[in-house]
Amino acid sequence: MNGTVYKSTGSWYTVKTPEGEVYECRIKGKFRIRGIKSTNPIAVGDRVRFELEQTGDVTYGVIHEIEDRVNYIVRKSVNLSKQTHVIAANVDQVFLLITLNNPKTYTIFIDRFLTTTEAYDVKTVLLFNKIDTYAEEELAEIKYLSDLYGKVGFTCLEISAKTGFNVDRVKEMMIGKTSMFSGNSGVGKSTLINAIEPSLQLRTAEISEQHLQGQHTTTFAEMFDLSFDARIIDTPGIKGFGLVDMEKEEIGDYFPEFFALKQDCKFNNCLHIDEPHCAVKKALEADEVSWSRYRSYLQMVTGEGDTYREDEFEI
Ligand code: GDP
Ligand code: ZN
Repeated sequence: MNGTVYKSTGSWYTVKTPEGEVYECRIKGKFRIRGIKSTNPIAVGDRVRFELEQTGDVTYGVIHEIEDRVNYIVRKSVNLSKQTHVIAANVDQVFLLITLNNPKTYTIFIDRFLTTTEAYDVKTVLLFNKIDTYAEEELAEIKYLSDLYGKVGFTCLEISAKTGFNVDRVKEMMIGKTSMFSGNSGVGKSTLINAIEPSLQLRTAEISEQHLQGQHTTTFAEMFDLSFDARIIDTPGIKGFGLVDMEKEEIGDYFPEFFALKQDCKFNNCLHIDEPHCAVKKALEADEVSWSRYRSYLQMVTGEGDTYREDEFEI
């Protein structure tokens, strides 16, 4: 039999078949996922093969195979070992919520986030939320940012989770897909998810998280089927996802507009900083590449003035 993992407790996995049957499953033997050393062998979103076994009256599944992942998102382990925890696999898209006030989302945060999702190979959609609250000046800034990121290749949409403005457009984008929602604390993730599916009582994490403060807890993501052929991955208690370890030389590859120009740089390992005949610098001087994006890139490469840490990608 085959199915998709919807929930995991660490030793049991809830697997749903394409026909909608749900089985509690265990793992047979040890799994080694190629390429990564993670604390959990199977994550929410994994597609698995399993067989049914029976002990007494109890029927359960035994997973013996995991399909290759299209992509996956990891959280850095709290301890200093190199082990990572896979939050979710096979994610179709992440919606990044952005607000200009209460709280303000900084472009360095957006750019760091997008670099990470590009590295993970997860499509990202930018949602400018709380559109009902902005003055003209802020609306102009959103227009500017939408143009900027739209040109780079990201879908941008203005929404109001509170009034419901464009929430139907978000729902359209979710059809047939598995989505996650991310953004700084207070940008409106819970409000939006509730507007999308009012019956879904998610994101009670904040309360339990405070409640459990100080305790070391392992939390897991959970996937939910929505009423309109869409899936959502909720991540209670998981603060955020980690930036994959990147070499300095690699960072530019995750800025799509820089990557597209790279072949025209004189040196194929060009860092686009002070090398001669750099196509990115040339495009920057000609205003074809955004200074704001370039500033973020410099901060990421040099580490200077870099106040945003990986654990701030709240999900
Ligand atoms: P989260 O931390 O990202 O889950 O953010 P919440 O969903 O808890 O929202 C934080 C605050 O922003 C709450 O007081 C919401 O009512 C408010 N909020 C969320 N979306 C909107 C919006 O589109 N417009 C306005 N005016 N307030 C919003
Ligand atoms: Zn260059």
